[in-house]
Amino acid sequence: MMDFLGSVLAHKAPVSTQGMHGGFSWEWLAEGVLCLTPEQAYEKAVVLSAGVHGNETAPIELLEQLVQDIFAGKLKLQVRLLLILGNPEAIRSGQRYIEHDMNRMFCGLPQQFAAAAEAQRVAELEQIAADFFTHSPAQAQRYHYDLHTAIRPSLLPTFALFPQQAHAYDATLLASLNAAELDALVYHSAPGKTFTHFTSSVFQAASATLELGHAKPFGQNDLASFSAIDQVLRAVVSGQALPARKRQAIQAFQVTDSIIKTEDDFQLNLADSAPNFSVFQPGDVIAVQQGQPYAVAQQPVWILFPNPQVKKGLRAGLILTELN
Ligand code: ZN
Repeated sequence: MMDFLGSVLAHKAPVSTQGMHGGFSWEWLAEGVLCLTPEQAYEKAVVLSAGVHGNETAPIELLEQLVQDIFAGKLKLQVRLLLILGNPEAIRSGQRYIEHDMNRMFCGLPQQFAAAAEAQRVAELEQIAADFFTHSPAQAQRYHYDLHTAIRPSLLPTFALFPQQAHAYDATLLASLNAAELDALVYHSAPGKTFTHFTSSVFQAASATLELGHAKPFGQNDLASFSAIDQVLRAVVSGQALPARKRQAIQAFQVTDSIIKTEDDFQLNLADSAPNFSVFQPGDVIAVQQGQPYAVAQQPVWILFPNPQVKKGLRAGLILTELN
């Protein structure tokens, strides 16, 4: 058996680090990184990552079960698959990160993070993802699902974020997010420093960051509440048809602005406990700093990831408008 999560939690590589197993070969490429390659021809190279934020346990448990079922022969692998537990040290300590948020460190390491515990891991994951995509057959379609859970409550509990990208949005990726019963899609309109921005911009992968609701400590998650995405990921790796969506149509939003905290007296007109996708109406003042209001113009806007506590110069929230 492959002790994927257990090896990370024990901080110990598996006894053997590569092998053949019922129709595929596998290799433990680095701590918490497993590559599975089917013996037969395949059409997709898929990256599934979780634990880029170490305390987001539920998606980590989903990947662990997926690996177990592939190795047990319950799930037949039909794609080349790279499984990543993003920040092993943070996963072990049950923290979001050790020194810095990895998901703001991809695509060229910001100078202020160069000495951070996470810097080496980001470089390692960038190299592994590069090898994975460039050493898969050229015709293989490239996918990346980066799985997260959110800290704050959300009026739309589950959603996907697309990195800003020049290439077209992949129909299969969109169909899978729809089938996963997500509430919303959010399209970034500016480059980011996320793992999915890296795989999308450098390798033209069809990439999405998924926010899947709330997580609890290991072993305490109600994985049934993650069953829709679980079914979809299983369908993706085993080449099966996607389940049909049963819920109302998915909502779509575009990021139209970022609120940047530039002053110490920055104030956000939102309760600390306010959920993601809180809405502001035309004329509402969202934030004030140095007496300067940030007000809503003609259309209602939604706010995502509000955080007035960020350091000066950083983003205190994303402003969204709804797409038709
Ligand atoms: Zn996260």
